[in-house]
Amino acid sequence: MRTGQINVQTENIFPIIKKFLYSDHEIFLRELVSNAVDASQKLKFLANNGEFKGELGDLKVEVILDSVEKTLTIRDRGIGMSADEIDKYINQIAFSGAEEFVQQYKGKEGAEQIIGHFGLGFYSGFMVSEKVQIRSLSRHEGEKAVQWESNGSPEYTITDIEKEDRGTDIVLYINEESAEFLEKSRVQGILDKYCKFLPVPVIFGTKTEYVEDPAGEKDEEGKVKRVAVDTINQVNNVSPAWTKSPSDLDVDDYNSFYKELYPSTIESPLFHIHLNVDYPFNLTGILYFPRIQENLEIQKNKINLYSNQVFITDSVEEIVPEFLTLLHGVIDSPDIPLNVSRSYLQSDGNVKKISSHITKKVADKLAEMFKKDRADFESKWEDLKLFVQYGTLSDPKFSEKAKKFTLVKNSEGKYFTLEEFKESVKTLQTNKDDKVVMLYTNSIEEQYGFVKKAKDRGYDVLHIDGPLAPHWIANAEQTLENVMFARVDSDSLDKLIQKDEEIPSKLSKEDEEVLKPIFESVVDGEKYKIQFESMSSDEAPIIITQPEFIRRMMEQQKMGGAGFFGAFPDTFNVLINANHAKIGEVLSSKTVESKTEKVKQLTDIALLSQGMLKGEELNKFIERSIELV
Ligand code: ADP
Repeated sequence: MRTGQINVQTENIFPIIKKFLYSDHEIFLRELVSNAVDASQKLKFLANNGEFKGELGDLKVEVILDSVEKTLTIRDRGIGMSADEIDKYINQIAFSGAEEFVQQYKGKEGAEQIIGHFGLGFYSGFMVSEKVQIRSLSRHEGEKAVQWESNGSPEYTITDIEKEDRGTDIVLYINEESAEFLEKSRVQGILDKYCKFLPVPVIFGTKTEYVEDPAGEKDEEGKVKRVAVDTINQVNNVSPAWTKSPSDLDVDDYNSFYKELYPSTIESPLFHIHLNVDYPFNLTGILYFPRIQENLEIQKNKINLYSNQVFITDSVEEIVPEFLTLLHGVIDSPDIPLNVSRSYLQSDGNVKKISSHITKKVADKLAEMFKKDRADFESKWEDLKLFVQYGTLSDPKFSEKAKKFTLVKNSEGKYFTLEEFKESVKTLQTNKDDKVVMLYTNSIEEQYGFVKKAKDRGYDVLHIDGPLAPHWIANAEQTLENVMFARVDSDSLDKLIQKDEEIPSKLSKEDEEVLKPIFESVVDGEKYKIQFESMSSDEAPIIITQPEFIRRMMEQQKMGGAGFFGAFPDTFNVLINANHAKIGEVLSSKTVESKTEKVKQLTDIALLSQGMLKGEELNKFIERSIELV
């Protein structure tokens, strides 16, 4: 046996290692299992090159939890280490300014990845252990098996031991504060999180209880020997779908991999994109399109980031544009720097390239699907719509590409691209200023009367709804030339698509002066503005509208963007159709009372058709109507 000092340049790095990852101790297992996997793969590589001539055997990695002995062992059958190699790779923690570096990044986001990056992976075992042993037999013939042991002070001992199998056991004697890592479910959870797709089989075995030897063997003291009861299972799928070639996979394979990633999800994804880039950066992965629901937030952040099949994180906000975080799946790239702060990550050249590459791939995929099978694309549109609108609003490059496949639906359920729709309606729906007016409704049911009137005139009405609709409409108006959007209930039809010819009014100025005070007596002047309009006689006698711009302001206010204008009053127009026969009847009624009665009834009907007659007023209206029967 010999002893020595671990060659760290600072006084003692262990207290720092132990402390600074306080919140994320569990990564020690990822680090040690990754090392074991690396050692196994290195041996495979050497064998392929003819440098290693022995038997490879079964290269699995075992994680053995012994909750009676209070140890966690990570065992591999990889290259192993000789005493000299341990000295070189373990004892010489050769990097400068360790403490300085660690101090600088302490507590910062992403700090947990620094350890692995700077070759401190092995030492992370000390975060949870009072003592760590390396028991290793090198691949080289004639080497002796050795055991290195340290309790976390810079002293270590090295002893020769008996060990038959090639490879390395890292034995962690778990300390008291870290007792959680002796719980089977905790360890299983960590393995499931970080090791699920490692390229070498990882076996989890537990010895959680000892029973008397069924063969009745006795120990030295003459007591019946106790033997461990083992349970074992394999943790990982060594060749996850993203590492395979797309030509070897069919839709079922992709769907079952989706289930593997998200076992609790019942729905299958709409479709997927298999990413495979090797220049100018390395990236593989599969992105899935889920059915995007109204509540965008709950769907975000389901993409898992891997580095060579080792799970790193499920927060990829800095790596892909925000709208892409609605997708699910896996990105695996050794080229994404993991040891840096988030703000640095966003400005990293590689990350930017990766981000725009993924955006392009996603847009291209949608364009291809649209081109290849339009009917199928249309059948998926309602589930894709929010994603495409989100992308259009947040990413100019995506927006440009999305023009080709963004669909709108009319009130009869027929789909168009915006250009197609513009073409189809432009003859009838161009106003006197040469703008094509895209009439739309956000609810066919609520605005039924308005939609019907528009259709009766030969106009086509779009059905545009969803949480992003107001923003998306404003955006479409800016990107399309000579187009404006108007909700069907925002004005009279004559005004919505104003033509050159004026319709003559049947009411004189004097008539209007007679009627005005009567209307003012039945509606709240703060909220409703009375306007006489010379409309077509087929329009309703009274229409309650909210001008497009006021409604958009209200909508923005609701979404928290009141901004410059401050609180905006929710006001409406009461449009009186000067040419409707009923208005003529009101005028010719004898008394003010009978005029008022008629006006009240007509106004209530107009409110009712907008869903705005409520409470006491609605009740009075109902009672009046019953009287009439
Ligand atoms: P890193 O893995 O980042 O290089 P580590 O501290 O985890 O840093 O390991 C240092 C070195 O020790 C490794 O590069 C490797 O050479 C060696 N090593 C660690 N674990 C094993 C193992 N299970 N088998 C063989 N060599 C190992």
